[in-house]
Amino acid sequence: MLHCVKLVLCLTFLSCEAHVIRSKDSADASNVFGLTGLAKNNATDATFMQGDIAMPKQDGRTAFIRSSKWPDGTVPVEFDSSYSTAQKNIIIGAMSEITKNTNNCIRFVWRTTNHPVWLRIFPGQGCWSYMGKAMQKGPQDLSLQIPGCVHHQVALHEFIHALGFVHEQTRPDRDQYVRIQTQNIVSGQDHNFDVFSRTDTNMLGLPYDFGSIMHYRSDAFSSNGRPTIVPTTSVGKSWESRMGRGEKMSALDIQKLKKYYSCS
Ligand SMILES: [Zn+2]
Repeated sequence: MLHCVKLVLCLTFLSCEAHVIRSKDSADASNVFGLTGLAKNNATDATFMQGDIAMPKQDGRTAFIRSSKWPDGTVPVEFDSSYSTAQKNIIIGAMSEITKNTNNCIRFVWRTTNHPVWLRIFPGQGCWSYMGKAMQKGPQDLSLQIPGCVHHQVALHEFIHALGFVHEQTRPDRDQYVRIQTQNIVSGQDHNFDVFSRTDTNMLGLPYDFGSIMHYRSDAFSSNGRPTIVPTTSVGKSWESRMGRGEKMSALDIQKLKKYYSCS
């Protein structure tokens, strides 16, 4: 049974690339980060929307989920034992950025037996997350493949998905800010550029953010290296080469997270 999607669209950027070398491998359709050497995003019990957002499978087909907040802004987490201390510290750094920027309103705590649902950070195939609190019980997976996904900005992006946000350029109003160059998109990947309807999304009354850590790069899913997303506003044009390449939350990312979680 399909449920409506109640997404909080918007928050911010998909940057993810800073230290990453691009190559033809980046044409991997499931890799929205421009990262190389990664497995295609894959999960046994999920299918994928927009490249790196996992959707639970139900009765053999994809089911949209209603994005839920983590109660009290508290996200229990546990690490798979495969990560080294240095790798865990990189990932913890991303959590710390969220907590610090929200003035401790959104917190990550170690999972205990009292937590019915928790984020299990594990090195699966690719970099991906569910959107919001998607499970009723047990672990909710967030994959950060070793070593390709263990970067601060990638972990940050995936945690913000896990907090309930989708990609910035899927906002219902995105065509006022960017033009999608469908002729440059890898065949069969057009769905990654779908927009959500106003009834299914919550833009939180805050503006479009070219600098969001939840925004795609200008060449996301490009078949030929040419842009798939071209900003059309004067502000946007100044962002064209930087979209999706930031390493931290933008000011609007922070505002949106705080507003969604009713932070003071
Ligand atoms: Zn993403």
